[in-house]
Amino acid sequence: MMNIEEYVRVSSCSEAYEILNSVNGSAILGGCGYLRMGNRAISKGIDLSLLGLNQIIETDSDIEIGAMTSLRDIETNPILKNNFNGSLCDCMENIVGIQLRSIVTIGGTVAGRYPFSDVLPVLMALGADVVLTGAGRVSLEDFMDGKHKSDVVEKIIIPKTSERVAYKSVRNSLVDYAILNCVIALSDGEYKVVVGARPQKAIRATKCEAFLKGKELTEEIAEEAAKIVADELSFGDNVRGSAEYRKAVCVTLIKRALVGGAE
Ligand SMILES: Cc1cc2nc3c(=O)[nH]c(=O)nc-3n(C[C@H](O)[C@H](O)[C@H](O)COP(=O)(O)OP(=O)(O)OC[C@H]3O[C@@H](n4cnc5c(N)ncnc54)[C@H](O)[C@@H]3O)c2cc1C
Repeated sequence: MMNIEEYVRVSSCSEAYEILNSVNGSAILGGCGYLRMGNRAISKGIDLSLLGLNQIIETDSDIEIGAMTSLRDIETNPILKNNFNGSLCDCMENIVGIQLRSIVTIGGTVAGRYPFSDVLPVLMALGADVVLTGAGRVSLEDFMDGKHKSDVVEKIIIPKTSERVAYKSVRNSLVDYAILNCVIALSDGEYKVVVGARPQKAIRATKCEAFLKGKELTEEIAEEAAKIVADELSFGDNVRGSAEYRKAVCVTLIKRALVGGAE
């Protein structure tokens, strides 16, 4: 159970950043879905809910999602349903249930860098950036490497360049954590291929991406590409599945994502 000694509703992201970096043990409060699962003693809980960071805005080139936007608002948003083959909406549907998804936020999801995440692989494949109060705009891929730990996530920016996106996952039961998830996204003629819940953090399969460059997608090419992904990435064991099982599932999911496309 988390324990919050003091609570503050800030009036700007700069105020949040200042507290986060000056008060030992302080933490930004997203939806607190994950925070409350631990035993963290929080000296000062920083609430961003007055800052209007729960908007989804479409511009000519991008879609911007404020950090306090709930996963349910993303899942049901018409702009996001009409972009990226609805993949950012689809990847939400097995995350526990509507009640949890109505509370937990995209800011907490990104800041948490959870290796089991269904959302982060999709954002990575879409080439998303993260806007931080201190460091400014950085790529999600760099952010996932563990930099910028004491910063405030303000919003996520997704370029509208992906023409074809497919998300696939496999689970032991509908609302359990994924055993593995895979995303492919085609942008400007080039594929991004991302695999998450290996159970290590999501990662791009760059050898497969290079292999797919300039190739016309056939069943055979998809099969070969899927095998390249399974060979180039490492997989691990946990209670949900063995490394061997994950590797086998990876071939199937990538092939389905490539040839099945946006189902
Ligand atoms: C029971 C349970 C099951 C889940 N199952 C899945 C699943 O199957 N698939 C999946 O993808 N996800 C799953 N999740 C994760 C969930 O989708 C969210 O990603 C997670 O709860 C974090 O979001 P939050 O808003 O609750 O963040 P919080 O718990 O509030 O915060 C998480 C961390 O991020 C920090 N933080 C929050 N907001 C910001 C910000 N704006 N800037 C900087 N730091 C910030 C907090 O200080 C904390 O360290 C599950 C969560 C729970 C509780």
